Amino acid sequence: MVQEPKFTISGLRGVWGEDLNEESARRHIEAFAVFLQKRSGKKVILGRDSRKSGPIISAIAIDILTKAGLEVIDIGIAPTPTIIFLIRTMKLDGGIMLTASHNPPEYNGIKFLSEKALYVDADELIEIKTYLGSQPTDNTGGTVNEDLSLGTQHVEHVLVNIDVDLIKSKNFKVVIDTINGAGYKLGPILLERLGCVVTVINDTPDGNFAHIPEPLAENLTGLADKVKEVGADIGFAQDPDADRLVLCNEKGEIVFEEYTLALSVKSVLQKTPGDVVVNLSTSNTSEDLVNDTGHKLYRTKVGEGNVVEGIITHNAVIGGEGSGGVIYPTMNLCRDSLVGMALVLELLVKEGEPISEIVSKLPKYELVKTKMPFEGKLTNVIEKVINALPDGKPDTQDGLRIDFPDRSWVQIRASNTEPIIRIWAEAKTRERAEELVNNIKSLL
Ligand code: MG
Repeated sequence: MVQEPKFTISGLRGVWGEDLNEESARRHIEAFAVFLQKRSGKKVILGRDSRKSGPIISAIAIDILTKAGLEVIDIGIAPTPTIIFLIRTMKLDGGIMLTASHNPPEYNGIKFLSEKALYVDADELIEIKTYLGSQPTDNTGGTVNEDLSLGTQHVEHVLVNIDVDLIKSKNFKVVIDTINGAGYKLGPILLERLGCVVTVINDTPDGNFAHIPEPLAENLTGLADKVKEVGADIGFAQDPDADRLVLCNEKGEIVFEEYTLALSVKSVLQKTPGDVVVNLSTSNTSEDLVNDTGHKLYRTKVGEGNVVEGIITHNAVIGGEGSGGVIYPTMNLCRDSLVGMALVLELLVKEGEPISEIVSKLPKYELVKTKMPFEGKLTNVIEKVINALPDGKPDTQDGLRIDFPDRSWVQIRASNTEPIIRIWAEAKTRERAEELVNNIKSLL
């Protein structure tokens, strides 16, 4: 028997037809339906990215949820942030998003969302797991309603919270690469509403991603070439479920992913100074920007839900993850590529300089990301590492991060899925960052 995919707060993810198949999808969606019934849930939303297996899993979900008596709003292909936005604003009882984010096209995933408009939390996950193998009670009254137009409400909400006239006055020339993914429609709509002259590449959501989906520089050469070809002011790349955003400057150079959040932080702090929340793996660039304003940057465990919780706890004005995940609570309480585009364009107008210039003035760090095989227990080595590096300030919220007086840091985290650990280090110079990584490796 094929093993089922690992079920975590991020849902389940696997290769469709192998570990993630009709049987495992059905079992987990049935457990989620029981969970919704226990809460007297009535109305839920269902969305998906553009993968070929999406319609099959969607049909399974509609079958289970309607038989359980739920009213299902089927929004079709839509960004993850759009689903999360609609759960909150329409006061829905939860939702399901079918996506494997940046994984290759043969993968798919099922993300379960609660009425808090967030992925189910650790306690809710434990509860749902107890329902695996149970059937929801048969109920009449279940319906499905296809509404593909709801996504524009998300765009409208971004627009009411940004200076549209200011951005419109510039008629920016922009290129957007939607990777034939979930952002294919709403991304370009938002940019057009902001008065941009938009060139769209890869906007056929047929399940064939135009390039390797992870939004890294080496996968975004098509965007870079198009920016140069049309002489655009800026280029945007979304990942397949349109929560992450990566930028391309006017010279056709992909901007390091950490700067998407840093530029968004700069944009927000200019209009609303306040505290900021990022995860423990995010570059110090954003922290320096916050420190300059006299406000505080808080760090949480890695994971979108942890950052969102931190933003709420600290009443932060913005937050996010260094990998291109911008969370601006005024617009949406999750990583949202539409929000990132709006904030970066607003900054572009206010700074009055090309995007390459704005980026070159950001605080600069070198981030080195490595991983190595590791079989033991991370807790056993944490103390050893802390003792060996006494000039650093340790943080053990998530693995171990040690910050040093010269603004460098090193982080060790175990992988949830493989017998490896990730060792990341950041410093003003690459040599120092590499030295930190090598120090840790020699201690393990
Ligand atoms: Mg994603």
